[in-house]
Amino acid sequence: MLLDPFKRQLKLFAMVGPCYVRPTCNTCNYFGYPPKTYTAIESCFMNTSNCLKLLLGALLLTGCVTSHQSAGPTAQTQTQTRETQGTITPTQALTLLKEGNERFVSGRMLHRDLRQEVLQTSSGQYPFAVVVSCLDSRVPAELIFDQGLGDIFSARVAGNVVNEDILGSLEFATKVSGSKLIVVIGHRSCGAIKGACDDVQLGHLTALLARIKPAVDSVQTAPGETRSSKNSTFVERVAEENVRHTLKTIRTESPILNEMIEKGQVGLVGGNYDLGTGKVTFFSE
Ligand SMILES: [Zn+2]
Repeated sequence: MLLDPFKRQLKLFAMVGPCYVRPTCNTCNYFGYPPKTYTAIESCFMNTSNCLKLLLGALLLTGCVTSHQSAGPTAQTQTQTRETQGTITPTQALTLLKEGNERFVSGRMLHRDLRQEVLQTSSGQYPFAVVVSCLDSRVPAELIFDQGLGDIFSARVAGNVVNEDILGSLEFATKVSGSKLIVVIGHRSCGAIKGACDDVQLGHLTALLARIKPAVDSVQTAPGETRSSKNSTFVERVAEENVRHTLKTIRTESPILNEMIEKGQVGLVGGNYDLGTGKVTFFSE
């Protein structure tokens, strides 16, 4: 059954190639084999182990078909404007991110002309959300939410923690620039979380990991259970608790953000990113 997908591609190739539409395999002929009649493309394939041209054609077609399948919708995307940003509610902003992540997970990302988006956003930016996520190279917010230029602010720092600088950035994104939603995303197998669990001491990293320690300390474990990066269950529980701690810190440390959240002008939500699937699971789900 392993050949089935390949045979399907062969049949597709045969529709435009010589083997299926003619009683003899011109491709084999081309390589000096005597003309031979085939009743089905499968028998042709079985009898042309040296038919490199046919194989190459099928492989090229496979790549072509795969490429078209992954290209997704081809409608031209439109960047955010003052008007579109102004009409989006915090709930709608979350929906836009959920829909974008669904496209990312399913491989149906929108086709974007980034050069065109550069031109469209050159005179201003009106992002509808701001995402705080980890430095990890596998968690780029714009990609995992399938967003384009000018759509979202992205604040990235190891362990998705907040300090004065990040809080100031969130205040700028919402109070000054009009974003409607603050998202904090943690992820599985986070190196920063593991470092905090193991109490790593290294240069400036020591101070950064100290911001994760409250989450480490708040996670309860059974007597004798390992409280280090060797315990993956413990690490994932700390990662989730760390996101919750960051959400709490945003509200307690920034009166400006807390007021906007209280008034419903800005939404606040946490989530976890699965490195294996590409899916973001929001805490409210
Ligand atoms: Zn991380």
